Amino acid sequence: MRVYKFGGASVKDANGIRNLREIVAQSSDDLMVVVSAMGKTTNALERLVSALSQGNEQLAEQEWLQVFDHHVYTILELGLQPNVDVRLPVMPTYNHEWSYDQNYDQIVSLGEIMSTQIIAVYLLKNGVPTEWWNIPKLLRTDATYREAQVDWQHSAQVIRAGWDRAARPHVVVTQGFIGGTEDGLRTTLGREGSDYTAALLGNFLDAESVTIWKDVPGILNADPRKQTDTIKIDQLSYHDAVELAYSGAQVIHPKTIRPLENKKIPLYVKPFGNPIASGSIICENARPVNVPVYIWRENQILITMRAKDFAFVLEESLSHIFDIIHRHHLTVSLVQSSAVTISVCVDNNRFVASALAELQDAYQVTWNDNLRLLTIRGTTPEILRTEQENRTILLSQTTRRTARLVINN
Ligand code: ASP
Ligand code: MG
Repeated sequence: MRVYKFGGASVKDANGIRNLREIVAQSSDDLMVVVSAMGKTTNALERLVSALSQGNEQLAEQEWLQVFDHHVYTILELGLQPNVDVRLPVMPTYNHEWSYDQNYDQIVSLGEIMSTQIIAVYLLKNGVPTEWWNIPKLLRTDATYREAQVDWQHSAQVIRAGWDRAARPHVVVTQGFIGGTEDGLRTTLGREGSDYTAALLGNFLDAESVTIWKDVPGILNADPRKQTDTIKIDQLSYHDAVELAYSGAQVIHPKTIRPLENKKIPLYVKPFGNPIASGSIICENARPVNVPVYIWRENQILITMRAKDFAFVLEESLSHIFDIIHRHHLTVSLVQSSAVTISVCVDNNRFVASALAELQDAYQVTWNDNLRLLTIRGTTPEILRTEQENRTILLSQTTRRTARLVINN
C-alpha cells in the first residue's frame, strides 16, 4: 500500500478535487489518502475561534459564512448535493469552561473533517471505492491542545486493525493534522501537520512509499516566491531533509522524516499538476546535494541572556535556559554563546512573551524581533559575500559548508 498526502493548495476548489481523483484513480495500489483543509480554511477557522473567544459574534459569523459558502459551492460544482451527499456542520460555538487551545482544536479541526467528507463522497460517486475514516477516533494523542503528542503504539494498533478489516482493493480518505484524546475530544498536531500524519500512517501500515502532492515541481534549492532560477533537488537523504525542514524550508513539516526514516520508507514530493513528473525523493541512499540550498525562516526573535552578577553563564545556565525554552514550547533555530552570554534565535510565536518573562527573572535579557534567518547549505565565500551585501546582519555563524545569517528586516 502507499500513502498519498494532498495539501490545502491542491484541494482548494472543485478542480483540485477532480485532479485528486485522477491521481488516485491511476494508482494500482491500495491507498491511504491524507488530506488537509481546503485552501486557506485553517486560517479562516483560526480567525473564527479568535472572534468567538472575544465575543465578537458578528465577525465570527462572517468568517463562518465564508468558509461554509466555499464548501457548499465546491460540493455543488462537483455535482453533489449539500446536506444529502455531504452534511456540513453548523456554526461552532465557544465553550468558556475550556481553554482557548481546547476550543481551537475542536473548531479548527472542522476544516479537515469537511474537506475529507467532500472528497470521499466525490470519489465514491465517481468510480473509486472509498472509505472515509474519522481519524480523531484512531490517531490517539495526549491533551496538549494545538501541539498534541501522538501515542504511536496505541494508534498503530488501532489503525493497522482498521486497515486489515477494510475491503480490497480500496482507498481510504482521512484527515491530516488532527487526532483525538482518550476522552473523545479532537486535537491538532501543530500547523502544517498533515505531512506528519501521512508519515505516521506510512510507518504504522509499512507503506511502500509516501507521496506528498504539492504545487511545486519537487523540493527546490530555494523558495520560488523569494528567489528566481531555483533548481530542483532530485534526491535527498533523510538526514539532509531533516536539516532542511528544521532550517525552515516550507516543503515538508519537520516531524515528517522520523517515522519514515525509522522504517526506511521513501518519501516522494511531486507536483499535483503533473503527476508523471519525477519530483523529488527522500530516501536512505540519496546522492549528496551538489547545489547551494537557501532556506529562509521568517519571524524570528534573537534573545540574549546575560547573568545578572556577571558570573559565567555557560555551564550553570545552559540547562536552566533550555528548560525554560522547552517548557514554553519555543522552537530554537540557532544558539550562540560567549563567556557571559547565551543568544538564541527562536520562532516568534504566541509562547515567547511568557518565556521572556521567566527568563527575565533570572537573567539580564535583551532581544530583537522582526528578524529573518537565512541558512545557506553548501555555501561558498562568494555566495556568502553576495548574501551579506546591503543587509544588516545581527549574527552570523559559519561551519564548513553551512552559513547562517540573522538578518534585520
Ligand atoms: N490545514 C492545516 C494547516 O493549514 C494542516 C496542513 O495543512 O498541513 O496548518
Ligand atoms: Mg493547510
